[in-house]
Amino acid sequence: MTQRICDCTYCECVVPDTAPEVNGKVYCCEACATSHPDNQPCQDSQCDCHRRNWGGIKT
Ligand SMILES: [Zn+2]
Ligand SMILES: [Zn+2]
Ligand SMILES: [Zn+2]
Repeated sequence: MTQRICDCTYCECVVPDTAPEVNGKVYCCEACATSHPDNQPCQDSQCDCHRRNWGGIKT
């Protein structure tokens, strides 16, 4: 099985198998999948992608 990394630009979390696919991309958590609205933090508290990528993911 291939491990997939979250498609959130600055996120390097491994995506769980159960993660929903959005437009052909996979995200580790709902916050990443929705481009961190309201600066919502990543499921991994060590990850600061929500701060670096605030304002939305460019597709
Ligand atoms: Zn993250
Ligand atoms: Zn993520
Ligand atoms: Zn993220």
